Amino acid sequence: MDYVGHVIRPPSEAYSMIIQVTVGCSHNMCTFCGTYKGQKFRIKDMKTIKRDIDEASGYRYGFTKAFLADGDVLILPNETLLEIIGYIKKKNPQIERIGVYGNTKSIIKKTHEELIELREAGLGIVYQGIETGNKEVLRRIKKGAFPHRMIECANKVREAGILLSQTVLLGIGGTDMSEQHAVDTGRLLGEMSPDYASALTVMILPNTELYLDFQSGAFRLPDKFGLLRELRLIIENMDVKRPCFFTSNHASNYLPIRAMLPDDKNEVLALLDKILKTRDERILKPEHMRAL
Ligand code: SF4
Repeated sequence: MDYVGHVIRPPSEAYSMIIQVTVGCSHNMCTFCGTYKGQKFRIKDMKTIKRDIDEASGYRYGFTKAFLADGDVLILPNETLLEIIGYIKKKNPQIERIGVYGNTKSIIKKTHEELIELREAGLGIVYQGIETGNKEVLRRIKKGAFPHRMIECANKVREAGILLSQTVLLGIGGTDMSEQHAVDTGRLLGEMSPDYASALTVMILPNTELYLDFQSGAFRLPDKFGLLRELRLIIENMDVKRPCFFTSNHASNYLPIRAMLPDDKNEVLALLDKILKTRDERILKPEHMRAL
């Protein structure tokens, strides 16, 4: 397979056929993200992409899902995406769902008709990192998107019949914006009500702007109980309009949670209250087991 650099995928795509169709991220500005630093964004040529699809299709493992990497594949012209999706489906008729990462800008650029075309071809899920619902934090981390646009995106994806999975980052507001970040993030997730939402914890990576701020003291990360308090505030403020499967089982987190909201909300809040009150660390993931 022609994999270039770090090829990342959502945890739920662990058993998917992973086809890298772009290298890097078209935005590549987020202050906390070191994944594609120094990597110029480019779309791979169709010959290479199809060769990879041919190779992956020859594996004995019967893939039922495919994921198109890297950072922001939805930015590709529809024509190109349709050709890639069509080729995957032709070679693998058993594939039920194809997924991509899509940032706010790339979703906004697609028309309703284009998203419908993609869904009909086989695109089943869009993963979007929103990180926070707080405007000031979004500005600080250079996300290049604001809440009103994110809401517009969520509506567009849902109206096209495509599943939406969003991630947020515990700790990204630092200690000074911790509460506002968590409250606004919960409210925004409630407003958008994605099919899936997950919380990760920000990790301070040496090749990022956030690392420099961390070193200078301009950015201070909440401690583990501060992060759990954020998790609690997010869930408390997440008044979803339809069922949403919420997880915090990513390796970066101290406490793995899997909850169907709104049904499990009170139970999860009670668990978090108990941990925050007793400050019992035994249930939390040890530091050495946390990773990106
Ligand atoms: S977080 Fe996502 S959008 Fe931001 S630079 Fe990294 S890959 Fe690109």
